[in-house]
Amino acid sequence: MNLLGLTYPQLVSIFRERYGRGEFHAAALYRGFYGSAFREPTDIEAFSASHRLQGQLRSDLELSRPVVVAQTTEDGVTKLVFRLQDGHRIETVVIPMANHATVCISCQVGCRMGCQFCHTGQMGWVRNLSAEEIVSQVYTIKIAMGIDVRNVVFMGMGEPLDNFDPVVQAVRVMEDQRGLNIAKRRITVSTVGLPHQIERLAQLNWPQLKLAVSLNAPNDAVRSELMPINRKYPLDQLKSALQHYPLARGNTIFIEYVQIKGVNDKRSHASQLKDFIGDLPVKLNLIPYNPRRHSPYQAPTETDIERFHQALIEEKIFVRLRSSKGAGIRAACGQLGASSA
Ligand code: SAH
Ligand code: SF4
Repeated sequence: MNLLGLTYPQLVSIFRERYGRGEFHAAALYRGFYGSAFREPTDIEAFSASHRLQGQLRSDLELSRPVVVAQTTEDGVTKLVFRLQDGHRIETVVIPMANHATVCISCQVGCRMGCQFCHTGQMGWVRNLSAEEIVSQVYTIKIAMGIDVRNVVFMGMGEPLDNFDPVVQAVRVMEDQRGLNIAKRRITVSTVGLPHQIERLAQLNWPQLKLAVSLNAPNDAVRSELMPINRKYPLDQLKSALQHYPLARGNTIFIEYVQIKGVNDKRSHASQLKDFIGDLPVKLNLIPYNPRRHSPYQAPTETDIERFHQALIEEKIFVRLRSSKGAGIRAACGQLGASSA
């Protein structure tokens, strides 16, 4: 068993069923594991009297984690490359905020959605990450490196709703206050917009969880060109899934919009976007495109950004301009995967 993939209640029931032990021992292991000085379970005080339990844990616990094999920093943004057990590599980005950090995590090696503008999409899909591989990224940064991680965003490599169960399990593990303590309202799941999977997420009824949808286009023609998945699930299906999504009071859905010069940033696109949004409770994040390697598309200039930003404001769309730091180390949105094996 790997503690990174288990919630606290799951650990308690394993202790009960497998070892005939109560919550006292399970809690001691859980607390020890999430303490900064954790080395191995046999060091834990509560186990010193029980050699049998120590022996069982030594053979049952899988303590190896993906290892950081490269680390680069630019503009304060740090990109970590993890090597997984099978040799594949994933990337995780640490973005410093005022007093704490946001971590941008990966959920797949590659991605099968094939978005034209995205480096990860061009890699294709290699495999899904397990819940423990997802959680290990945050564990390493928060516990092993001692960084005060406040927010987690699923905006690294991969499509979270295409790896549904491990992503949901990772949220359950990360939110425990006795462990990583990243509450659902501090976790953002960013999706390419798979309507049936958004409906599955809705059924969990987690109104605090933040949902971001990468729209990136104001109409089906442009979206299908940029994001092949739109041919299968056009905008009306996406909109209907969003209309039914449960939100806590005052919460909104985030719409991610990567501005690509001359492709999705015309004046008419701003009004089409308004038509799509209608009365959906959304906030739009406008992200300037970071050209991936060998990209057919261009980044917008400052003037392009200002012009489109103004057009969105005129359409009364709630919009925030997002800078994309870390482009020099290929840590910016959509550039991940360049160091993968
Ligand atoms: N698969 C998920 C999450 C990972 S992508 C999704 O698509 O939402 C995270 C964000 O990066 C998405 O909003 C995506 O539109 C954006 N992105 C991808 N490539 C980009 C690029 N080259 N420049 C800027 N943003 C990009
Ligand atoms: Fe996958 Fe998201 Fe990149 Fe599209 S933008 S290819 S869904 S990671």
